[in-house]
Amino acid sequence: MTEELAVRDAYRRECTATVVAAVADGVLLDRTVFYPQGGGQPGDTGLLEWTGGTVAVADAVRREGEVVHVLADGPVPAPGTPVRAVIDWERRHLLMRTHTALHVLSALVWREFGAKVTGGNMEPGRARMDFELESMSVEFGREVEERLNAILAEGHPVRVLFLARAEALADPDLIRTKVSLIPEHVDPVRVVDIAGADRQADGGTHVADTAEVGRVRVVKTESKGKGNKRMRIELEQPPA
Ligand SMILES: [Zn+2]
Repeated sequence: MTEELAVRDAYRRECTATVVAAVADGVLLDRTVFYPQGGGQPGDTGLLEWTGGTVAVADAVRREGEVVHVLADGPVPAPGTPVRAVIDWERRHLLMRTHTALHVLSALVWREFGAKVTGGNMEPGRARMDFELESMSVEFGREVEERLNAILAEGHPVRVLFLARAEALADPDLIRTKVSLIPEHVDPVRVVDIAGADRQADGGTHVADTAEVGRVRVVKTESKGKGNKRMRIELEQPPA
């Protein structure tokens, strides 16, 4: 199993590792800083460097419990090669900010409007989230935007916890986000806790404080059918 460093440290940009296997479209490493796509968050991109070579990583995906570093055209490091694995940090940090914004958004819409999330997706700096709502007006979007930015600016710390499965199943916030659907062998359960704002079982990467997200705009509200309304958000440009 690949040791996944992003599970505990989302801010780590690179690591040394050893190639353990080559597959048709990439390589497996013994450890990695790359986040494999999952939970709505895209996989990281970046590069692998070794003595005598370098190759771009076009994507990272999870396959049979391992992280596959999907390689762009170029040389492929052979099994046994020590490499330096480096993620595209600008892109990843945008994803961390976007992902954190979605947590606060989902909790806010649930708490203040009683609507559950039915789906969502994110790209670096923009995302969509679908809610179980009969209607979603432009005014609703503006109100949510204002509330969301106010909560983000309060600077809630974001922590990663590992809870015993039994404890996670009994946590009312986690029940709301369907912790019971997590496969039974998963114990402890990784939980992302945004103090006073949100708590979810989650495998993704997030920023350490909601203030780091910056401001978010609700750019569109649309209907995707009866009882399903979609909101699109964008981050304002990152502070330099
Ligand atoms: Zn998350």
